[in-house]
Amino acid sequence: MIIYDSNNKKWVETIKKLITILIPAYNEEEVLTPLLQRLKGVTGKLPNYSFEFLFVNDGSTDRTLEMLRKMAKVHSEISYVNLSRNFGKEVAMLAGFDHINGDAVIILDADLQDPPELIPRMIRYWEKGYDDVFAKRNTRAGETWFKKWSSNSYYKILQKVSSIPIQNNTGDFRLLDRKCIEALKQMRESERYTKGMFSWIGFNKKELLFDREPRAAGTTKWNYKKLFNLAVDGLTSSTVAPLRISSFFGIVISIFALLFMLFIFVRTLVFGGSVPGYPSLMTVILFLGGIQLISLGIIGEYLGKVFNETKKRPAYLINEYYSPIALRKNERR
Ligand code: UDP
Ligand code: MG
Repeated sequence: MIIYDSNNKKWVETIKKLITILIPAYNEEEVLTPLLQRLKGVTGKLPNYSFEFLFVNDGSTDRTLEMLRKMAKVHSEISYVNLSRNFGKEVAMLAGFDHINGDAVIILDADLQDPPELIPRMIRYWEKGYDDVFAKRNTRAGETWFKKWSSNSYYKILQKVSSIPIQNNTGDFRLLDRKCIEALKQMRESERYTKGMFSWIGFNKKELLFDREPRAAGTTKWNYKKLFNLAVDGLTSSTVAPLRISSFFGIVISIFALLFMLFIFVRTLVFGGSVPGYPSLMTVILFLGGIQLISLGIIGEYLGKVFNETKKRPAYLINEYYSPIALRKNERR
């Protein structure tokens, strides 16, 4: 960019800030072309910045990679990381973080549910000094009431039991400054809940409201099984509250059981022994059995996490990395 330097009274050329748009893509062949068009439309109106479109191909089984290769030959902004298999969006994002060349990153879903038209506003707030400009959904068009309801109640619970505030109705669509990226790169756990990490790292946050659109094409990669897994990961990776809750239940139930035992003891002494009481005995045993199984399951969740992390495997493996921008950066050095 050419700007006028009023101190030295001359025009000087400054290097433009580079903004990386990070797009995890898993079987997204249908949306890549419209996505690129929309992105070009938006970034074309921001001549003061240069852009890098960094795609992470998360083991797609369709023509996503082929199309990326082709598109990268025509458009020099495109870089891509090709993972060795499908690792899931959370890990795909980590792979992306490791390959960002920009001064800031904007994480965007490939399916155009996150409107790229919000990008200029995000950049404006970034220039004002915010490090994490996140987009909050006003509405969730094209989603069932059950998904909305379950997601709402989940965040309420998560909010209550974990010590860090996690933003409701917020996806991964956000702009992050370089310092946030460096912070996130240090968090190497392989079972990731990135949304909790965004909150955990802190820094200057700013919220932007937007209307989330239905998918442009293709189908969602999330089903209720995957969502349940993410929900459990979210809880167990951001708080140990469930462990405490199960201890709490254990204590409360033991106290009640003790009182009941005293009551039976006294009753037997006063009125003599009696046979009835089989149904109440049965319910108590079943109830306690249930609580014990749940508590064991909760402990197992954490133990499983410990097991997976102690293996110290890399979170992902890369098959191919293509980036003209990284090449140019290395040449300059
Ligand atoms: N995605 C991915 N790996 C996966 C699943 C999804 O990289 O295993 C990407 C997907 O290509 C998209 C984004 O994550 O860019 C969001 O996925 P999707 O639209 O299926 O989720 P939803 O919007 O329904 O939450
Ligand atoms: Mg989507």
